[in-house]
Amino acid sequence: MKKELYCPTCGKDSVMQAKPFEWSKGVIAEGFQCANCREFLLTLDQHKKAAKAYGQHNTLSLTRKLFTLGQSLAVRIPYDIVNQLKLKPSQKVQFHTTREGLVVKPA
Ligand SMILES: [Zn+2]
Repeated sequence: MKKELYCPTCGKDSVMQAKPFEWSKGVIAEGFQCANCREFLLTLDQHKKAAKAYGQHNTLSLTRKLFTLGQSLAVRIPYDIVNQLKLKPSQKVQFHTTREGLVVKPA
């Protein structure tokens, strides 16, 4: 039986399709893309494979879409990152801007 993966943003209305994409410059990884919102997801195994190909074993780099929450912008932290950093609800995080963008780390 084929396992179906639903988009976490669109829910059960959108089954994600296996598709190769550029995970990092020059590294093509297999992932899942939502046909509706175009968001990419990787399973933990797919991520490990991509990280190995890239030569990084302990870093994660995943893309997520911002959404509005009241008057603010919010982002859902992917499960793999929550697990790797052992993040918990209500835990404080620190925002840090760099030339490359935004770094969020446990405070
Ligand atoms: Zn979607």
